[in-house]
Amino acid sequence: MKVSCEVIRDLLPLYYDKVCSNESSSLIEEHLAECTQCLDELKKLEINLEKPNIPEGKVKVMKSISTKWKMDKRIAFTKGSMIASALAAILCFIMYNVIGVKILSDGTLVEPFALIPIGYVFILMFIISLICNFIFLKKRKIISK
Ligand SMILES: [Zn+2]
Repeated sequence: MKVSCEVIRDLLPLYYDKVCSNESSSLIEEHLAECTQCLDELKKLEINLEKPNIPEGKVKVMKSISTKWKMDKRIAFTKGSMIASALAAILCFIMYNVIGVKILSDGTLVEPFALIPIGYVFILMFIISLICNFIFLKKRKIISK
């Protein structure tokens, strides 16, 4: 069966994407074996599809925006964690002072000792967040340059 070049060229994108029927693809292959012009069209299609038409500069700009955005998110997260852990630590020490030491009628000493190590854990969290925040801010400055 002879098919015109125009029909083949209409089908080439489907053939390239391997979404046309077996019958169509065998028809196209038959035609391509004889017609160099259509074969060239297929090659052009391959080149155009393999290289998206995004200029190199634009890709770089988009990438830098995405890394900046990621860094901003990290900075915001460490800031939030700094504030939360500082508040929690302060709260622990305030609670320790507010609750204070009690001596029950049977003579046992009741003291909220657990609040002290918890408070120190929060201080440690605060310090870690502070260091991470500092590192992320520095990285962000380097990216921005
Ligand atoms: Zn042809």
